[in-house]
Formats: sequence, C-alpha cells, structure tokens
Amino acid sequence: MKLPGGYLASVTSVSDQQGNPLQAPLCTARLQNEFRFKPRCGALQLLLQERRQYCIDNQLSHAHWVSELLACILVQLGDYTATHQPDDEAQLLSRVRQLCVADRQFILWQWRLNQGHVQGNQTEWLSNQCPACDAYYDFPLDWQMLPIKLATVDFPFAQLTLGSQQISVRVPNGGDQEFIADWLSNHPAATQRELQRTLLRRLLIVDEKTDAVELEQALSDEQIASIESALEAVAPELASAIQLACPECGFEHQLQLDLYQQLLAPISQLLDEVHQLAIHYHWREEDILHLPETRRRAYLQRLELSQGMRGAV
Ligand SMILES: [Zn+2]
Repeated sequence: MKLPGGYLASVTSVSDQQGNPLQAPLCTARLQNEFRFKPRCGALQLLLQERRQYCIDNQLSHAHWVSELLACILVQLGDYTATHQPDDEAQLLSRVRQLCVADRQFILWQWRLNQGHVQGNQTEWLSNQCPACDAYYDFPLDWQMLPIKLATVDFPFAQLTLGSQQISVRVPNGGDQEFIADWLSNHPAATQRELQRTLLRRLLIVDEKTDAVELEQALSDEQIASIESALEAVAPELASAIQLACPECGFEHQLQLDLYQQLLAPISQLLDEVHQLAIHYHWREEDILHLPETRRRAYLQRLELSQGMRGAV
C-alpha cells in the first residue's frame, strides 16, 4: 500500500559555490511511501494493549501512543522491512515519527478498514447527539468513503516569498507532534501563539548563516498564517469530518470523526476466544494467539456451528 505523502530517506540540500542554498531545499532523495501491515493475530492484539498500558502508565502523550501503535502494526515502512531483528521496532519508530499527520492517520484508517474486512463488517454504527434538538441517534459509517487529498509534488516542503525573504518550511510530522505534546505539558499556560511559534522554529529550513529563532521572531502573525496556508496546500489530508442530518429534526451538521476510537479490540473478548479454542482443541495458548485472526474466527465459527447442531438434537 502507498501513503498519500511519505518521508524522505535522506535530505541533501544543494548549495552554489558561495555556499548559498539553491532554492533550498533541493532533494535528491525519493519519497518513501510504501507500507505493509503485520498479519493480524491474537499476540499482536495483546502487544497493542500492553503498549497502550505502557503509554498510560508513563503518562506519554497521544502522539507518542500513535507512534508506538504504528511501529507495532507495520512490518514495512518505506526503505525498512522488519526481519525479526532486535532493532526493528526502533527503526520503524524513527520512520513513523517522520510521517506527517495525514500519513499516520492514513495508516490507522487502512488498519481499521483491514479490521472491518477481517471481521466482515465494513460499515460501523456510530452514535451522535444532535446539536439542535439534543436527540441521540445512530448512523452507519462506511470508513472507506472518507475522501483523501494527496500531497503535491513539493511535499514535504513549502516555499514562499514573504516581503524580500524566501522562506522554506517542512510539513510537521509525528516527531513534531510528540515534541509539542511534551512542550505543552511543560508549559501549561502557553498561549496558542507561543505554541504556533515554537512549532514553526522546528519547521523553518535555514542555512548555517541564519538563526531559526531570529527568523521566526522577525515574522509577523500574518506571515505565519501565510506559512500555515502554504503548508496545508502541499500536505496530504484525510477528511475526518462528515455531514449528517438529524433524523429527529432534520438539522444538518458536521461531525468530527475520531479515527482512534474503538481501534483496539477489548482484551476480554480475545481471552474468551482463546479459552473456547483451548477447551475444545487442547491447543497451547501461545499457538492460539499466533493463529492468523481469520483462521481463529473460522475455527470459532465451526465450534459455534457444531454446538448449535448438538443443541438441536
Ligand atoms: Zn435534531
């Protein structure tokens, strides 16, 4: 599968003879955008729950958790394929941190579609409360229908001219999200403006002679808004809002979808399934956990069927 954006394996900025960057940054590296999932099995489900608990126990941010989750479910990302080496996870982690927000969402979105496919329910029923009449109602959502905007050729960089200055910035990625989450926990009273400028300092691409802090301080709020628009224009985007009409009063409104909700299956359900199979087939827990999810479900269906037949006699 291919990401709507991708990451650069290595960045080389090209300079002229005086050492001035030529329309920085010029990249010789190709965007890495291929990815593949690990096969789904009970052991992976358990690992994901353990990681989630680890993030909660260590008070790690949501962005950290998403990085951990992505590194667990992928077997290949761009130029790296896991081969059961001890540093597989570290290698994948460093790469998922280089992915922009939409790419990270895209992987989780595909994981969700994959999960629906395995479980045979492409359409999920979600609940919502109408902002006009307060009525609660359920609606079907086919995750496959979410529209996606691909990155432009300039991605992951945006270049613009502000006054007499050429500004180069890169699209924020997972590493920036983690940094900002940590920074916010250390600066709980920070304003939106301070947050915006702190992030921008990381994103500005400058040569050795320019100081990113000085450059950021020289920019007006309007100029920063222009930079943000330029970044949005080059970055991919996964639509996460859908249009709904309340079945009670007909009020039309937008709902922001949470791609992360119900992403992890409850562990009690997995343990019930392992228990069922262990009782009937006398397989070891470890073997059951390593069965591909589709095969585990197929055996459970057969068990249900044979129990049904026995009940009917
Ligand atoms: Zn309503």
